[in-house]
Amino acid sequence: MDKFDVIIVGAGLAGLASAYTLAQEGLEVLVLERGDYPGAKNVTGGRLYVNPVRDLFPDLWGNAPLERFIAHEGVTIMARERSITLNYYGNELCEEPHQSYSILRSKFDRWLAEQTEAKGAMLLSKVKVDDLIMENGKIDGVLAGGDELRADVVIACDGVLSLISEKAGLRQPASAHDSAVGLKEVIEIDTALINARFNLEGDEGVARLFVGEVTRGKFGGGFLYTNKESISLGIVVGIKDFMEGEPAIEAPAVLDEFKLRPEVAALIKGGETVEYSAHVLPEGGFKALSSLYGNGILVAGDAAGLALNIGFTVRGMEYALASGYYAAQAVLKAREAGDFSAETLAIYKSLLENSFVLKDFKNFQEAPGVLGNPRFFNHYPELAGNIMRDVYAVPVGSKNRLYPTIKQYMTLGEMWSIFKDLRKVMKI
Ligand SMILES: Cc1cc2nc3c(=O)[nH]c(=O)nc-3n(C[C@H](O)[C@H](O)[C@H](O)COP(=O)(O)OP(=O)(O)OC[C@H]3O[C@@H](n4cnc5c(N)ncnc54)[C@H](O)[C@@H]3O)c2cc1C
Repeated sequence: MDKFDVIIVGAGLAGLASAYTLAQEGLEVLVLERGDYPGAKNVTGGRLYVNPVRDLFPDLWGNAPLERFIAHEGVTIMARERSITLNYYGNELCEEPHQSYSILRSKFDRWLAEQTEAKGAMLLSKVKVDDLIMENGKIDGVLAGGDELRADVVIACDGVLSLISEKAGLRQPASAHDSAVGLKEVIEIDTALINARFNLEGDEGVARLFVGEVTRGKFGGGFLYTNKESISLGIVVGIKDFMEGEPAIEAPAVLDEFKLRPEVAALIKGGETVEYSAHVLPEGGFKALSSLYGNGILVAGDAAGLALNIGFTVRGMEYALASGYYAAQAVLKAREAGDFSAETLAIYKSLLENSFVLKDFKNFQEAPGVLGNPRFFNHYPELAGNIMRDVYAVPVGSKNRLYPTIKQYMTLGEMWSIFKDLRKVMKI
């Protein structure tokens, strides 16, 4: 059987970005996707930051199926019986080119796959790659559905639980400590209702993150993004934290509770859930990244652990797109050299190090450790909620002065704990 130049496992954003870039350069590329179609098995909260990847794919953005540009940001600190929301409106968020957009992966990935095929890549869906072919110490192709498919190089873009990079000996199985699970609903609501509820006009959209009681005070958070005709709503929870509960906490029940919170229920009222999905995501950051290359193989996107949560932003999609692009660049260099050994493919790591990808991961390498502090998810939301309750309360009798109202919570012990936590936050 003929050999392909490149076989890509997984038609998520990393795989499609790689295939698009390589096919554009005239290489024979085969993309294998186990889902019914690209986008069928892919889950995201819903916000793509375009700025870092705009120039890598200059022809793509004009026609991309982006939902709404994010014009308003918000974060809600949830205590058990109250919450505080901080909204951010900035002119720069409305200026073009827009920084970020809500997207729906079932639409976006399908569209990107069409662009990739138009460049000449071959894409086969409903094909699961089972194993790698190893010859003379080098990966020489894949085994899929009993077929042997050969290539100069394989790019593992098979997502967070990447079997392919494990088989290549480039990573260990994902650990509960470094992984979170996300549950998400797409809730269809009339466009006019979305605009009215969120105070939006035209293509403007809203992004909201929720922290605290939304995950029963455990590591994680909630998210809400407005799309054109729907709302993406979900939670992300640390797997280890949830497993450690007695009994272990059931994530679907937590999502149901989140939807019932009055602050959230009012936003989704009258909507119909048209999609429900669950997916694991990498949360270990820089210290949990896999090896990125081997003899005849590269790893990109979630498969390499390239997703980053720094509290205010949850990002993985543009790292998937960019790492797919740089993996393609590394293959082009290796082709020039006529050598697909690990030594030559190591250029991939240098390309990522010189790009925003590994610079971001290094800059925020302390984030997973700092954000693992349980006080951010239980103690501080309750504290902030209680202070707000007392500040706003007007009792039957006279109202206490504001300073003592707040000071009663700021004991010496509390101040010392806040100071210690702040010192850790300074590492991010
Ligand atoms: C709930 C949740 C919320 C998130 N929110 C955001 C957000 O708002 N913004 C953001 O930027 N990121 C977010 N992320 C992270 C982001 O979605 C991921 O980082 C991104 O989707 C990774 O893309 P990928 O191409 O690497 O992997 P995937 O999209 O997972 O693609 C992997 C593909 O490989 C296929 N595959 C797997 N194994 C095989 C096999 N053996 N053979 C063939 N095919 C195979 C799968 O079917 C899949 O299509 C979120 C993630 C989750 C779960």
